[in-house]
Amino acid sequence: MLKIFNTLTKKKELFDSYHKRKVNIYVCGITVYDYCHIGHGRTFTVFDMIVRYLKHLKYSLKYVRNITDIDDKVIKKSQENKESVFSLTNRMILSMQEDFLNLGLLPPSIEPRATEYINIMISMIKYFLDKKFAYISDNGDIFFSINSYKSYGLLSNQILNHLKTNYNINAYDFKHFNHDFVLWKKSNKFNEPKWSSPWGLGRPGWHIECSSINHKIFGKNLDIHGGGLDLLFPHHENERAQSNCFYDYNQYGKYWIHVGMLLLKNQKMSKRLHNTLLLKNLINQYNSEVIRYFFLSTHYRSPIFYDEKNIKKSYLSLRNLYFTLTKQIYNYQFLAHDVFSKFRNFSIQFYQAMDDDFNTPKAISILFEISKKAIFFLNNHRIDLAQYLIFQLKHLANTIGLLCQNPNVFFMQNKFLNHNQSLDINIMNLIEDRDIARKNKQWILADKLRRKLFRLNIILEDTPAGTIWKKIG
Ligand SMILES: [Zn+2]
Repeated sequence: MLKIFNTLTKKKELFDSYHKRKVNIYVCGITVYDYCHIGHGRTFTVFDMIVRYLKHLKYSLKYVRNITDIDDKVIKKSQENKESVFSLTNRMILSMQEDFLNLGLLPPSIEPRATEYINIMISMIKYFLDKKFAYISDNGDIFFSINSYKSYGLLSNQILNHLKTNYNINAYDFKHFNHDFVLWKKSNKFNEPKWSSPWGLGRPGWHIECSSINHKIFGKNLDIHGGGLDLLFPHHENERAQSNCFYDYNQYGKYWIHVGMLLLKNQKMSKRLHNTLLLKNLINQYNSEVIRYFFLSTHYRSPIFYDEKNIKKSYLSLRNLYFTLTKQIYNYQFLAHDVFSKFRNFSIQFYQAMDDDFNTPKAISILFEISKKAIFFLNNHRIDLAQYLIFQLKHLANTIGLLCQNPNVFFMQNKFLNHNQSLDINIMNLIEDRDIARKNKQWILADKLRRKLFRLNIILEDTPAGTIWKKIG
């Protein structure tokens, strides 16, 4: 039984969707003013893993990932670039879709743009003004009043009294309280996008977009609301306030899932700190499954530390699993065998880990146990047991989007073969001699050379793409 940690209740809860075997999932997507960075890569790989696992559990899914194509950052960037907002956002949307495709992410069922939902936003804002959840400020902007929603702060664990007493002291701001947030901005500039509304020309605030898209697509029945931890406050808190006030209930979003931050040198990654890495650069440099492995080898709620060393470690780990896959005999016919049943424990443990709030590091550790056991049986000439385990290894890994490539392709594409380790010419010659001996089927000589290399701290692995060597000690 799947349990999910719910940010709203701060505990793991048994997953139970509004409709039997159907899941409505909404994940806050990208603000398309710049290229995606690796923090985005982590967030959306995690939700891709969740989507794949829910599909594996036989749920039918409606997965919505929105696109924020209008906000202050988009306008500022388009002006800096001397480019229209439409041209900038279109360019960034294409780039994002290319990155996510290259990263191996399943496309969402719907990928709505905020600007397609302006009419719904306007009707929600009208309702908020009628019911006094919102007010028109002196400068014509419309704000949501956080005092009007008694559960404000519950999701992100903020103390409402503190937020309420924190009065706005900025004379150029027209809201009543610091944390009141804008629903509609009156247009006062010529060169920015604007829409007509009952309050004159203007444009929507950010938070209203997610409430409006969800209202149109899911109504009240949103099972999972997701996003990066950086969106928890104020974005998700504000979105929750809007939707709960609109529906006059307190249940908007049954399960709130937040993905931990990706950190660089102990600093939170942000564009402002200028330490951002672009996702497309990472994908160009490494096999996308290595990147997925790196993200999934840490629990999704924990912070993850990015550096090149950690990516290389991920590559080496994944390479070990792929190496086991090279031993697979395709179309191997399993005979009914009682012995197989004792290995079902591996599957049980794997699924238990995944059911426990998507514990991918634990699930991956089970994959290594299976791999080790398979190699053990291969070395002991129990081909049937080894083949059964290799089949199980691939099947389980596939549920979280790992080991999906042909091992030959993985080894061909890898970027680290023999990198950054220099060998003296004598060792290089020995490796080459052994390769020639193998090609000539001189097995005794080949074995002798392998043992000689081992004494020189070099171990060899024969893969379909050739021999890989590794220095030990
Ligand atoms: Zn959102």
